[in-house]
This record gives sequence, C-alpha cells and structure tokens, in this order.
Amino acid sequence: AASAQARTFDGEGRTADGHRVELLANVGDPRDAAVAAAAGAEGVGLLRTEFGFLDRDEAPSVAEQVAAYRQVLAAFPGRKVVIRTLDAGADKPMPFLTSDTEANPALGVRGLRTAQDHPEVLEDQLTAIAEAAAAESSRVWVMAPMVATVDESEDFVARCARHGLDVAGVMVEVPSAALLAGRILASAKFASIGTNDLTQYTMAADRLLGAVAELSDTWQPAVLQLVAATCAGGAQQDRPVGVCGEAAASPALAVVLVGLGVTSLSMTPRALADVAAVLGAVTVDDCRRAAQLALSAPTAAAARDRVRSALPVLD
Ligand code: PEP
Ligand code: MG
Repeated sequence: AASAQARTFDGEGRTADGHRVELLANVGDPRDAAVAAAAGAEGVGLLRTEFGFLDRDEAPSVAEQVAAYRQVLAAFPGRKVVIRTLDAGADKPMPFLTSDTEANPALGVRGLRTAQDHPEVLEDQLTAIAEAAAAESSRVWVMAPMVATVDESEDFVARCARHGLDVAGVMVEVPSAALLAGRILASAKFASIGTNDLTQYTMAADRLLGAVAELSDTWQPAVLQLVAATCAGGAQQDRPVGVCGEAAASPALAVVLVGLGVTSLSMTPRALADVAAVLGAVTVDDCRRAAQLALSAPTAAAARDRVRSALPVLD
C-alpha cells in the first residue's frame, strides 16, 4: 500500500512516533546530484568517487576532482555529503592502481588497501575533497571503503585530519570491522554499513553471481547480527551508524535496519519516497520488534516472511 501512496518525499525522515531517520541519497556521478536533491534527499550518504577514475590510464588531476566534488556539494548547500574515497579493485578494476593477476580480486588489494602502494592517489583525493569542502557550504564527511582493522581506520582518520577533514569515518563491509565497531568508532566519527559487500563477505557469496543469490541476501540472520554488532559499537561510542548498501532501499529491510539501531539510510533517489512512507507508518517499537523477529529467524526467507506478516503496511 505504501508504495502506491506518497510518490514524493520532501522533508525529514521519521517514524510515525517521531523517531528521526535521516534519508540520504547514493550518488555515483556528479550529474546525478541534482536528481537526488529533486527527489528530496536530506543529503548524500554515499558519493561513490569511482566515476572520475574508471576507464582511464591515470588518476584525474586534483583540479578535475575539485570541480566534480563541488558540483555535488553545490546541489546540497548546508547539507551533509558523505564522500567515499576511491574503491578501486574487485568489481571496479583500475589499471594504474590494481593488479589484474590476483586469483581472488574481491579478497585482494581493493578500496583503502590500494593506498599502501599508492598513497599519492589517496592524498590527492583528500586534497581535492578538502578544497571542494572549503569552497562550498555543505557539511562534508569522508569515509574509506574496505576497512578491516582498527589500525587501518586510525590511519585513515589521522590522514584525513592532516587535510583538515575532521569528520572521518569508515565503511563497515567486512565482518571484522562489524565485530570491532566499538573499537573502530573510538576514533572514527561514524560508520556506514555497505550491506552489498558485508553480505558478500559474511556469506562468502559473490554479490554478482546469480547461482549464489540465495546466500547473498541481506536478510540472512548472520548478516543482520553483524549490523546489530555495528550498531552496538556505535551506541557504545555515541557515534552514528548508517546504511548505504542496496538494503536501505527496501522498505521492509529499512524497518528492520532502523530497529537494529541504524540512524540514517542512504539509497538510490527513486527509493526515497517509498522508504519514507513506510517508516512514517510504523513506530520505532514496531521497527525493534521487526528486528528481533528477523534476527531470531532460522533462514533469510523466514526472516522476510515473519517481518512481512507482523507489519501489514509492508504489503
Ligand atoms: C556496499 O558494499 O554496500 C556499498 C555501498 O559499496 P559498493 O556497492 O560501492 O561496493
Ligand atoms: Mg562496497
């Protein structure tokens, strides 16, 4: 019913009883920022910066990057914009950064790991982000993909601080980061759960392989337990924990994620209205009950069914 109702969303995400959930947009190309703003997004929860680097022989210049990031920030004046540093590798190969001879690229040098051999690419990117942030009025947050250890997180936070980027956080998309969230969030200012990769790495099931799609399902109770662990770490350190994977765009999963303690949801702009409508039709206690039902279910299918039967608004 909710999907047939409100088609536009303009304002602030909240549950029927007023519990605030920031509803943000995923942006993969600067030209899409205006579309996200028009869809009512409160800000950008994930700017994927790969657009500037793919299909090239070398990294784009700092000036090119500044122009691209400013285009996104300009669409969200005064708003939060979370810029993710380059996620090269695995499904996003970049010849100047990643090797094409790894046997298991998803488990190889990808994301923040590429900064070990090529720190200059990350340094230039942080320089460009800082410059763009200084020129626009958005509140700029920066986060790194594929963080697995406390050390990596601390190094990234320190690196960002040297560029004057004070709100530095990490993506939680590797199970180790979810389990260590409390320690990671002692220095990282926020976490954003990438449910696409967190599901892939928890279930050892390639996110692009149809044959293992049943395993590669964020409703898997093990994945939801890791979301809960991340939220527990966030609560312990009083830090926000968002979700920016595809799961945030599913109204039923959005309810569960909020019930697990997630404080913001970032999604493709076209999903904002439906997610906002469903959240507006449930209380935060409904969300918590849904989360408990999903966590205690024996299978992903049972989790989905139990939550759907408990909350008729999802039909
Ligand atoms: C994720 O893994 O959930 C995520 C948001 O990052 P990407 O899809 O870009 O890997
Ligand atoms: Mg990812």
